[in-house]
Amino acid sequence: MKIICIGRNYAAHVVELDHTRELPSEPQFFMKPDTALLRNNDPFYVPSFSNEVHYETELVVRINRVGRAIEERFASRYYDEVGLGIDFTARDLQRECIAKGLPWERAKAFDYSAALSPEFIPLSELGGDVQRLHFSMSLNDELRQQGDTSQMIFGVNRLIAYVSRFVTLKIGDLLYTGTPVGVGPVRPGDRIRASLEGRQLLDFDIK
Ligand code: MG
Repeated sequence: MKIICIGRNYAAHVVELDHTRELPSEPQFFMKPDTALLRNNDPFYVPSFSNEVHYETELVVRINRVGRAIEERFASRYYDEVGLGIDFTARDLQRECIAKGLPWERAKAFDYSAALSPEFIPLSELGGDVQRLHFSMSLNDELRQQGDTSQMIFGVNRLIAYVSRFVTLKIGDLLYTGTPVGVGPVRPGDRIRASLEGRQLLDFDIK
């Protein structure tokens, strides 16, 4: 199982990270190892190597068929359930990696950096259109992020087509589809909750 994460897939978030940056002309992705998974709404422990760990709330698509070089028009056959995740990011290390042209693993792939909702919901129960989903995230009961998948720069089927040109997708792979605007730091004592189409899927503590 692998975790594939999309960077910069909502325009307002691209601007909040770096207002000088242009929108991407094609998807960009990176991966986290399976040791990054944080399941069952277990608490997230802020790692000691970063002073600025950010939450990024993302729609997660679970792959249910093996495929490579998938055509966009057939990509919807490769998933039927969606959930929510948090792509925890050591923003200070990420900035350093970007400045030095280094890979992002230290900032993105560390242990427990991929929180995953215990529950996945069949897309058919949510109206069937992956580009018409709303999700939201609150930190300590304060609304911080609202995502509308119609606002993605690259839709899920395009992402699957693009990634599978380079990397074979396997059953159980997880596609984190990028975060909307509103990212920010977490601190011990915080509580994260996130809902997809009104259903609360994530609820866990930061320690
Ligand atoms: Mg992300």
